[in-house]
Amino acid sequence: MSRTDQSRSDVPEEAAPGEVLLSARGLRKSFGDLEVLRAIDLEVRRGQVICLIGPSGSGKTTVLRSLNGLETPDGGTLSFAGGPSLDFSRPVSRRQRSALRDRSAMVFQHHNLFPHRTVIQNVLEGPVQVQKTPRARAVEQAETLLERVGLLDKRDVYPFQLSGGQQQRVGIVRALALRPSLLLFDEPTSALDPELVGEVLTVIKELADEGWTMVVVTHELSFARAVADEVLFMDGGVVVERAAPAEMFSRPRHARTRQFLERIL
Ligand code: ADP
Repeated sequence: MSRTDQSRSDVPEEAAPGEVLLSARGLRKSFGDLEVLRAIDLEVRRGQVICLIGPSGSGKTTVLRSLNGLETPDGGTLSFAGGPSLDFSRPVSRRQRSALRDRSAMVFQHHNLFPHRTVIQNVLEGPVQVQKTPRARAVEQAETLLERVGLLDKRDVYPFQLSGGQQQRVGIVRALALRPSLLLFDEPTSALDPELVGEVLTVIKELADEGWTMVVVTHELSFARAVADEVLFMDGGVVVERAAPAEMFSRPRHARTRQFLERIL
């Protein structure tokens, strides 16, 4: 499949395909005395897939959470094309943070579905309650997305009636239903039994092929190799190395990258 961007053709665009959608410069974050991010730079072009890899505790999740306003960095800047532009050396208003949150949607390690709501109710929550999309239109879009991941027949069941892989696919649909500019995945398969990993990675790969822009934290190096345009290796709160996957995985330049890859491969 080519990157045709069909899925978002009705969404107002801020950056043309290939143009810079998100630019982060010098992001810093500490929790108490612990410096978790030390001057992170990140540029994401529309349609690009960036994979963040690195040891546990290196700051990957904190980067993702900073991109969508769940975490407020202590310094640095973050700007979306045609959208919010934040300088974290100054106080950030609630309005700025919410503008940031509107631009991206996160898929978590654990799907975080509401257990007492059906699949379709879970998907409708964001569009109807938060974004005030007319219900009939939101239902139509939700059904299209559920069909897209092969789960339309599960629209009225509860999360506990689904496998872990199906639950995570609903989690992905819930993010897509918000029609974000940017999809953020935080280790989307690490809580799944090994036999369920493939179906979730396949959906993410298809979304990448359709032109969705995404930043993916993952330990699935074969997925990163197949899907990423760029891989960033983080360690100790810095981006140690960034490269195209073929280069990163076959000719890592830094000793720390080599050690990490040797341990994980
Ligand atoms: P990764 O995703 O690479 O595993 P994280 O970004 O989750 O790394 O965490 C980086 C470091 O920050 C870890 O040492 C973690 O314990 C710490 N950390 C993350 N969130 C918080 C928090 N809310 N309060 C205190 N420490 C935190």
